[in-house]
Amino acid sequence: MSLKKNNKDDQAIRSALQSAERIALFSHIHPDGDAIGAQLGLAAVLRAMGKEVAIYNQTGQPGTFAFLPGMADLRHWGEDDFSADLRVALDCGNLERLGLSEAEWQADQRISIDHHMGHEPFSDLNYVDAEAPATCAILADFCRNWNFPVSADAATCFLTGLHTDTGSFRFEKTKAETFQTAAWLMEKGADLSAIRYHVFESTSQARFQLLNAMYQSSEFLSGGHIAIAEITYKQMLNLGVNDDEVHGLVGQLKEVQGVELSILLRELSSGAIKVSLRSKQYLDCNRLASEFNGGGHVRAAGCTLHSSLQEARQTLLAAAARHLKEDLSS
Ligand code: AMP
Ligand code: MN
Ligand code: MN
Repeated sequence: MSLKKNNKDDQAIRSALQSAERIALFSHIHPDGDAIGAQLGLAAVLRAMGKEVAIYNQTGQPGTFAFLPGMADLRHWGEDDFSADLRVALDCGNLERLGLSEAEWQADQRISIDHHMGHEPFSDLNYVDAEAPATCAILADFCRNWNFPVSADAATCFLTGLHTDTGSFRFEKTKAETFQTAAWLMEKGADLSAIRYHVFESTSQARFQLLNAMYQSSEFLSGGHIAIAEITYKQMLNLGVNDDEVHGLVGQLKEVQGVELSILLRELSSGAIKVSLRSKQYLDCNRLASEFNGGGHVRAAGCTLHSSLQEARQTLLAAAARHLKEDLSS
């Protein structure tokens, strides 16, 4: 296979999954609920079909999702010598986000299943549906249409991705079909209480304090349409907060009335600045992040800047103010 484009050929995906015996599943670095849910859910389905499955992530296991069945199997690629006849990249918009080099991703048969807008194909077969609310929604619908075996555990994994990537069914890509997919997963036995308890009601005290620090640094600019806040590496270190606990903080800033765009700048241990962008109604975050070699979705995107916090802040604010005007008038 050498079809490096978005061919959206679900039957080719189906037959690749059905004919492979040993399958390795990958997702993006710093995995969120959708990345992890997609991997663990699909792993459970494929194992129920008699396949040997290994799952990999290059930045390890996010604590929030430790409750999901099968998480203990997640490994760093290169840690074992599992030889796969098919590799699947899930919820990942480009090779860099996979955390593997071009050489490391080389294999006979590679497929991608994703929903990122600016997806840059890096596999032989790429199924990308940018309208899908979550990669887990694509997978759950595939399984439903193809009659693949979805256990209660697999359903919990898929529902976790659907729940988190839609902001609990609030974001724009949430359609009537999204609720139908969720309903089907509930019928399959998905454990909504476990998701609620572990994902939404288990914030650590350290994360709560970090949220407080973020609020204290927040500023409202451009007539209140832009909210910006920052988190320093020192704050993370002092509070003992790890990377995956930062996920979702930027969304809190957007909840303020009048804010169209929220920006969170976070200093990494390397000194680089991780930028998270969220918009409410019209600003295209993907377009803004793309200016800085990042990407994502219209309402949620990210990028990394290699500068000081202060410089990153100025650069971002200047670009954001420009995008605010352009996107409002377009
Ligand atoms: P985050 O702000 O990190 O939660 O990311 C929001 C969305 O943008 C997610 O869907 C990410 O996959 C995507 N994203 C974040 N950073 C990048 C990046 N550097 N390049 C491409 N996509 C990104
Ligand atoms: Mn994701
Ligand atoms: Mn996703």
